[in-house]
Amino acid sequence: MHISEPYYLIVDLEATCSHKNKIIPRHEMEIIEIGAVILNNQTFTIESEFQTFIRPQRHPQLTPFCTELTTITQDQVDPAPLFPQALDEFVTWYTPYLPARFGSWGKYDYHQFIQDCRYHEIIYPLPEHINIKRQFSKAIGQSRDYGLNNALKHLQLTFDGTPHRGLDDARNIARIVTTILSRDQGS
Ligand code: AMP
Ligand code: MG
Repeated sequence: MHISEPYYLIVDLEATCSHKNKIIPRHEMEIIEIGAVILNNQTFTIESEFQTFIRPQRHPQLTPFCTELTTITQDQVDPAPLFPQALDEFVTWYTPYLPARFGSWGKYDYHQFIQDCRYHEIIYPLPEHINIKRQFSKAIGQSRDYGLNNALKHLQLTFDGTPHRGLDDARNIARIVTTILSRDQGS
């Protein structure tokens, strides 16, 4: 799982959603939270953390399903910045750590950023993406993909914090990366 860049920019997004995509189809989902950590690839320490809520435009009203899944409430997204401003703040935060590799659990977060950038007609700004879920499977010599919880279980870890919240998900992904990287270094 080693990368040549000194930092991993580990990101986890939460988005508007509905049960089985019935009310909100996949192509109309929008980011409502960015959670991210900067993981130092040498020391395995988290050097900085970022969290923002985002006010969705296409489906401004969160579904009860979405609030139940993520714990994110209407009161939290209503006063939040729209995607272009939030993205700007996010880029400003991670820029001092470049060159970094953008890592997430699967490809979902990467595709969701592209979708929101297209909708708002802004240029996609993130660095090259790495699918940490895939890298994890490779590192443990498995062909199947693991969910975040099962990956933690495989490493005899348990989820810290609230699942399906951006920053907590990102922190837990960082714990997985750290465990794999330090194990690789020790061998
Ligand atoms: P996660 O990072 O696993 O919390 O998921 C990111 C986003 O994917 C969530 O904020 C939801 O928008 C969507 N999502 C995750 N799980 C489900 C589910 N079971 N049904 C519908 N949408 C989901
Ligand atoms: Mg999440």
